[in-house]
Amino acid sequence: MAPADLHFVMMPLMAQGHVLPMVDLARLIAGHGARVTLVLTPVNAARNRTVLENVARAGLAVDVAEIPFPGNAVGLPEGFESLDMVTDISLGIRFYQAWDLLAEPLEAYLRSLPRRPDCLVADACGSWTAGVTRRLGVPRLILPVTSAFHLLATHNLITHGTYDRAADDFEPFEVPDFPVRVVVNRAASLGLPHMEKHQREMIEAVATADGVFINTCTDLEGVFVERYAEAISRKVWAVGPLCLFNTAAAGTMADRENRAAMDAERIVSWLDARPPASVLYVNFGSMARLFPLQVAELAAGLEASRRPFIWVVKETETAGIDAEFEARVKDRGQIICGWAPQMTILSHPSVGGFLTHCGWNSVVEAVSHGLPLLTWPHFHDQFLIETLVVDVLGVGVRVGVKVPTTHIGLVKPGQLLEVQVGRDHVERAVAEVMDEGPAGAARRARVKEHADKVRATAEGGSRDTNVENMIGHVIELVCKSKKKMDDADGKIPVA
Ligand code: UDP
Repeated sequence: MAPADLHFVMMPLMAQGHVLPMVDLARLIAGHGARVTLVLTPVNAARNRTVLENVARAGLAVDVAEIPFPGNAVGLPEGFESLDMVTDISLGIRFYQAWDLLAEPLEAYLRSLPRRPDCLVADACGSWTAGVTRRLGVPRLILPVTSAFHLLATHNLITHGTYDRAADDFEPFEVPDFPVRVVVNRAASLGLPHMEKHQREMIEAVATADGVFINTCTDLEGVFVERYAEAISRKVWAVGPLCLFNTAAAGTMADRENRAAMDAERIVSWLDARPPASVLYVNFGSMARLFPLQVAELAAGLEASRRPFIWVVKETETAGIDAEFEARVKDRGQIICGWAPQMTILSHPSVGGFLTHCGWNSVVEAVSHGLPLLTWPHFHDQFLIETLVVDVLGVGVRVGVKVPTTHIGLVKPGQLLEVQVGRDHVERAVAEVMDEGPAGAARRARVKEHADKVRATAEGGSRDTNVENMIGHVIELVCKSKKKMDDADGKIPVA
């Protein structure tokens, strides 16, 4: 059996931060000769049409299979098919209910194929994919879209019972059996109140998987990848940075996911007119939103910093920006309301720093482009990723957020802490991350060194070896299961 005989089906969670790395992984696997089908719901398929057309033009065998999103069944509005559309907790709960209902249509799709697929690559959110692949006798690999640092930390915190012993959400404790000393609390390490259940489900999903991909590489997280593989007793392949696969191909940088609210060409010519490494890029990813009062503080801090910036704001955040702000900063500030071509911006030499929510994709993308980070975590894995960025890799500066967005108000009952980061903090932190003095230069040198090593991994380096090893492992599993099953004609067994 050769790689070209393999058919991988990939099932991402419907959210940009999950679909984008899955699309990149699909391209990477297809680049090694296998055939790949991405399963997407109609809205997500439409969002990714341009990038997937470019993939096809590049001669890679990546198809899309559309299955309907069962949002109606749980009372979600028509077209509500992605986590970035979630603006309150009840919509979030219903979104995940609908996501769980995808087990049936996914299984029906897999059964409808003329030949049983050889492997399902599933998002780590969704332990239900285990049941689907077990019934079909198909190997299942997992892509959790976070760092090895976060995976190992939460795995250890849960399996060592640390959360069970914590008096409350803010009692500090050390992450047990961890390669470096990290002190966290429940709130910051889980990042959302209901996340403990989610993390337990992820551990379950991984425990029965045939292997795990991580969008990382040895330079960034070697020791954490190794220790995580040991902890879960599973094969783990570091296949990052996924964002760097075939970036020269048409549209790979600019046409990722949604239609950008401002054309990449316009942004590039604005950046071209700025000195090297002078611009701060501000974007909190696809989901995180600031409260209007906090938006106002950020705006004032950016204005006071006197640095050029590109600030990507969400519709709901615009209420926090006063009417004259844009006019006052028009010589040096570019506001993009909606989706930005992030990879295009990060790869431009005029960009010198990135104020980020610490979503793992954004961090990997920034480090791959040698950019120091100003960290402003909001929830979920973002606080632990901040620790990795600032304390372990030494490539970031904290803006000073202490509490996940969802815990605001819980620190001191009755005290409303909507504004965690005042304008002065923003101003000081921007000056620090963009600093041209010795400390800033040392940070910049460190992140450039990481960028060089990370790029070497991606360009004909260990990433390709890891993908080849993964393909070898899948071939072995397929051959073993072929022996076991009465499927000489390739038919899927009836459940
Ligand atoms: N992204 C983008 N434009 C935007 C916002 C996000 O291209 O305006 C991309 C970004 O490059 C990254 C992904 O969306 O690949 C966001 O993933 P991340 O893990 O950083 O954060 P999440 O959105 O999952 O919180």
